[in-house]
Amino acid sequence: MTTDKPILPGATIGVLGSGQLGRMFAIAARRMGYRVHTFSPETDTPTGQIADEEIVAPYKNLDAVREFARHVSVVTFEFENVLSATAEAAAEFAPLRPSHSVLHTTQHRLREKTFLEKHGFPVTPFKTINTLEDLLAGLRAFGCPAVLKTAGFGYDGKGQVKIKSLDEAQAAFAQATEQERVLEAFVDFECELSVVAARALDGAFTHWGAVENAHHNHILDVTIAPARVSEKIAQEAVTITRAVLEQLEVVGVLCVEFFLTRDGKLLINELAPRPHNSGHFSFDACVTSQFEQQLRAVCGLPLGATTLLKPAAMANLLGNLWQDGEPAWQAALALPEVKLHLYGKLAPKPGRKMGHLTAMAETADAAAALVRQARVRLLRNS
Ligand code: AMP
Repeated sequence: MTTDKPILPGATIGVLGSGQLGRMFAIAARRMGYRVHTFSPETDTPTGQIADEEIVAPYKNLDAVREFARHVSVVTFEFENVLSATAEAAAEFAPLRPSHSVLHTTQHRLREKTFLEKHGFPVTPFKTINTLEDLLAGLRAFGCPAVLKTAGFGYDGKGQVKIKSLDEAQAAFAQATEQERVLEAFVDFECELSVVAARALDGAFTHWGAVENAHHNHILDVTIAPARVSEKIAQEAVTITRAVLEQLEVVGVLCVEFFLTRDGKLLINELAPRPHNSGHFSFDACVTSQFEQQLRAVCGLPLGATTLLKPAAMANLLGNLWQDGEPAWQAALALPEVKLHLYGKLAPKPGRKMGHLTAMAETADAAAALVRQARVRLLRNS
């Protein structure tokens, strides 16, 4: 279904998915007087705890998806691995924003990279891998190390393996459960950057600038805003991001993740057609957060200012922090510039994103140091 009419406060927004991104979206939506329905196979979820209604059914239950979409004014999503059939069933009864075609392109590494390459965007060199012979040829072409990734349904480094020598090829090939894979050249990067941006129904564009991301075990660890790179690089990252959103005709929020190579080139690593972990700082540190902007964009409203009020940094809180018991919240909160966000997840498993801290300071360096200090304070034995 399509409509250009604005969806105003009081209306109900449908969210496919029920994790922390949906939770923070729902907080922003309820603050502005909207109702929120969330749809996922789980109960008592991070989004469901905030939403007006938590619909619990498998994504494959298309009748349940249709019923969900019938009762909302617009459907958005908080993860990109939404099945095509689910997206199509929802779109029969409510506008789906971003569109099914944005989902289709960005939920599959090969389609995404092929799209980016075709439109002249800078991407990490890649090759489609179907057989062991493809893999060996790719490794010879790129050299080792290289990274073998599943084409679909991967996140936080899941489904990827670094191959350090040709001898490891066979074992790496046998490890993957999925047939279609992508081999990427290993990028010896200077740093990782991302730009979270939003595009409205009328084509208006806003962004939160280039931010700097440090990963640990393939999972985002700390984001620093603004990125400590030259103005030229930061500008270039925003220009590329804008072109990606325009080429995809995104209505909503999309994040472009980049590698900055040691010789100063930006390469796109991947796209996420939704608010992104590297944009969480915007909740505390910007005039309009990525979540409120997603709401404004999918409702056909004017976008808000994205001004950064103060340099900021965000540190993820993974389940590992709970290994010696409940983290020492008071110790971190004793630092008054630090904000705590917890996602309401019940089981703190290692590697699971349970929450994050944001800190603001006079400089990006100081914000990064402060948020790290706050996180260390959470450890009982620190
Ligand atoms: P991804 O799930 O593809 O975003 O990968 C997660 C993280 O793994 C990235 O943010 C990088 O830190 C690292 N990584 C992934 N692909 C590559 C690559 N081709 N070269 C170097 N590091 C990579």
